[in-house]
Amino acid sequence: MAMRHLASVSPGAGRGRLSALTGVCSKSGYLRMTTAVCRLCAAELTETFVDLGMSPLCESYLPAERLDSAETFYPLHVRLCSSCLLVQLPAYVPGEDIFSDYAYFSSYSDSWVAHAKRYADTMAEQLGLGPDSLVTEVASNDGYLLQHFVARGIPVLGVEPAANIAEVARSRGIRTENEFLGAETGAALAAKHGRADLVAGNNVYAHVPDLVGFTAGLAALVKPEGLVTLEFPHLLRLIERRQYDTIYHEHYQYLSLLTAQRALATAGLVVVDVEELSTHGGSLRVHARHGAAAGETSSNVKSVLEAEAEAGLHTVEGHKGFAEAVFDIKRDLLDFLLTARAEGKRVVGYGAPGKGNTLLNHCGIRADLLEYTVDRSPHKQGMFLPGTHIPIHAPERIAQDRPDYVLVLPWNLRTELSAQLAYVREWGGRLVFPIPDLEVV
Ligand SMILES: [Zn+2]
Repeated sequence: MAMRHLASVSPGAGRGRLSALTGVCSKSGYLRMTTAVCRLCAAELTETFVDLGMSPLCESYLPAERLDSAETFYPLHVRLCSSCLLVQLPAYVPGEDIFSDYAYFSSYSDSWVAHAKRYADTMAEQLGLGPDSLVTEVASNDGYLLQHFVARGIPVLGVEPAANIAEVARSRGIRTENEFLGAETGAALAAKHGRADLVAGNNVYAHVPDLVGFTAGLAALVKPEGLVTLEFPHLLRLIERRQYDTIYHEHYQYLSLLTAQRALATAGLVVVDVEELSTHGGSLRVHARHGAAAGETSSNVKSVLEAEAEAGLHTVEGHKGFAEAVFDIKRDLLDFLLTARAEGKRVVGYGAPGKGNTLLNHCGIRADLLEYTVDRSPHKQGMFLPGTHIPIHAPERIAQDRPDYVLVLPWNLRTELSAQLAYVREWGGRLVFPIPDLEVV
């Protein structure tokens, strides 16, 4: 697997890229982690954005029989490149170790599936897609998005790195290739299936350690006059709304529009439009085309860049102060949980998302402060959270136990979950949201 990862580095990237790879660890342990260098511009990384200490991989849920075994913890030390301003987590863990066997099934979130349908409907109309078109999605998961194109009779191709999830997609009739996208795989897939009118990458651009190779793959997959859309959490919102729990090992970079433009430019792709979305706490959806077909850039691009510049995101200095905000969240949450415990109140969690594990591990919260959490995904029920070993039950458990407080871990689904959990009030229970400020409602 490691060889394939190396092979997907674009040949033109030069020595800087290769030395960046010496910072990647392999299955056999760490290779020389000397100085970290920027994966986009190869400058040495000397600035810290925030250092959350050591944490296990956030999706490595544990079965009961592994609770007594050792767990591997990796650094969550996020850097800022003082040259190109890319906020990034060095690839302490290679993508293959995280995404080859993945527990996240997109279709278990109602609001995410609805979001995908809106996107599919809009793009099909706007681009006039039909039976002769091709829509390719990178990191297509279980087909949660492509199913909406299939329903409209539009041919699709899913590219999904996790074999177990690719299999689920195929069983649902979604043509899916089990691959990691890089420069070579992009070209090979395009040769085999044709280039696409629309290449979608929802919630994947932040997840690729080989950002340059992945971007080359995107450029290879899309037709010369085609469109690429990428959705990723917006760094501006992460900072503004203090969403530090979205920092975990799967998220290799935390993008602004400026740094996304710089990354796309490495493969000749130009951002022509951008939409601001409410998903994942505030995301951007960039529309990019090959330079020759780019045409005019929308005014949205200018206004988002201006908002970023105003917030300080276009300077090194403007990124300071985030670490202090993170400490405030930790202090408030621990304060709440310790007080609840002292008062003999029962506190349980709702949801077992990756972001919950960053928060719980960083704050050192275990089953002594949070009895258990619940999750709708049957793949997680009966398992334990990594690091903290908090048990995961089915959601029905909350109604049976009638706890005093329910700590909601996927705060990005606040509206959906507030409605779903309204029954907690029947016995006087309350919901607790830890971010951006601790709120008990
Ligand atoms: Zn850089």
